[in-house]
Amino acid sequence: MYNVWENVLAEIEQKVSPANFSTWFKDTTLLSASDDHVIIGVKNSFFVKQLRSKFLDLITDALKKNGIEFTTIDFEVSSTSKPKVRSREVTTTDSSLGDRIKPLKKSLDTKSISNGLNSKYTLDSFVIGSNNDLAVSAAKSIIDTPGTRYNPFFLYGGPGLGKTHLVQAIGNELLRRDPSLKILYTPISHFYSDFIDAIQNGKGKEFNRKFEKLDCLIIDDFQFIVGKEKSQEEFFNIFNDLYQLNKQIIVTSDRLPSQIKTVDERLASRLTMGGAFDLQLPKFEDKCAILRAKAELMGADIEPEAIEYIAENVNTNIRDLEGEFSTILLMSEVRGLTPLELIQNGSASISRSNKLRPISGKQVVEKVAKYYNLPVKEMCGKSRVANIKTARQVAMFILSKELSMSTTKIATEVGVKDHTTVMHGIKKIESDLKLNFSLRDQIEEIKEHIYG
Ligand code: ADP
Ligand code: MG
Repeated sequence: MYNVWENVLAEIEQKVSPANFSTWFKDTTLLSASDDHVIIGVKNSFFVKQLRSKFLDLITDALKKNGIEFTTIDFEVSSTSKPKVRSREVTTTDSSLGDRIKPLKKSLDTKSISNGLNSKYTLDSFVIGSNNDLAVSAAKSIIDTPGTRYNPFFLYGGPGLGKTHLVQAIGNELLRRDPSLKILYTPISHFYSDFIDAIQNGKGKEFNRKFEKLDCLIIDDFQFIVGKEKSQEEFFNIFNDLYQLNKQIIVTSDRLPSQIKTVDERLASRLTMGGAFDLQLPKFEDKCAILRAKAELMGADIEPEAIEYIAENVNTNIRDLEGEFSTILLMSEVRGLTPLELIQNGSASISRSNKLRPISGKQVVEKVAKYYNLPVKEMCGKSRVANIKTARQVAMFILSKELSMSTTKIATEVGVKDHTTVMHGIKKIESDLKLNFSLRDQIEEIKEHIYG
């Protein structure tokens, strides 16, 4: 399946610097393309101005090259920076686009499309820190001697922590060293949609053959295999074939295979026999290092204090960290203030804390108790029963991470005697989160209740 906007972006990516591409285009979407009118979704109003003044011709050109003819073009601020929420998946079969879109060439004559690799992901631009050093050293070993020690290479961790970047970087580096290698990167969702297509068109054998010839197969977001039994079976076969030939297999997922429902036990254990490596949340120093590297890459001038402010205030993941960083740089350019000045005059508050301001500690406690089906009184009481205690600790954790509340204040909110109990509770959740994926999901859901 070829998404038109992806092709347009691929075209643009070749014409602008990686820094410009990631700043201006990464979060754009095609909201609609009909009646000679194209609407592009952007993250905020700063983008509208910049895209119009700097890149209009480029965008127009790239759209036309991809068969989208139009007379007017508009930019619209999407309600969220996460494009999937509002964008429509525009594909060549999208009927509302009518015949305005000519059939796309299957390949845009770039390697980056046919093998799924995107050259912007390099090992050089991947900052090594305490959150990823083991995974990176395994990655380097794979690059030196693919198909040997870490095979398969299983990389897992929450969203936005660098899984795609790291495995793409391995693919790119392998190819740089030996351009004759046959490498394929594919998200598991593409794997199964292609597989279904092949079966429906009676081309199951060809599908299989495409994989047989590979030297390295990279499968991203394996967790989405849930409920796709036939595809799982096919993947298992391909996996075994490649493995026997000592071909390198790389798989990412947000959790361990054993924690993905409906994954065959034998497959689960095979996937981790080369070791399972995780990417963790970056610590403060890691976040600063990533931002400094990004600033250097973009040639952006940003004060160390501003970097520290962003690092301190974004506690979700690296994707969000980059998002806030870009927004502050943009605002600083538009307003003619330095990033630090912007922060000091209060115009650059990080979006999550913005959203949270109207929410009190009491409301958080209520939401957590409700989520666990407990009366607030009971959750904030003295009970040592495991599930009640966990709920209490989750409340402590959320109050600390999301409201940046002091441990003394949290103690009062959740009805415990002193702040050391709170510190212990938060630490407990932090360490449980590393491997307890159900807990991760629970906390995400609670946050959705809180913000929603
Ligand atoms: P995931 O696949 O785990 O959801 P991504 O690989 O898409 O995460 O990473 C999210 C963003 O963060 C990407 O833009 C990526 O380049 C960046 N990123 C993640 N880890 C690092 C790192 N260690 N150094 C530099 N950039 C990183
Ligand atoms: Mg990813």
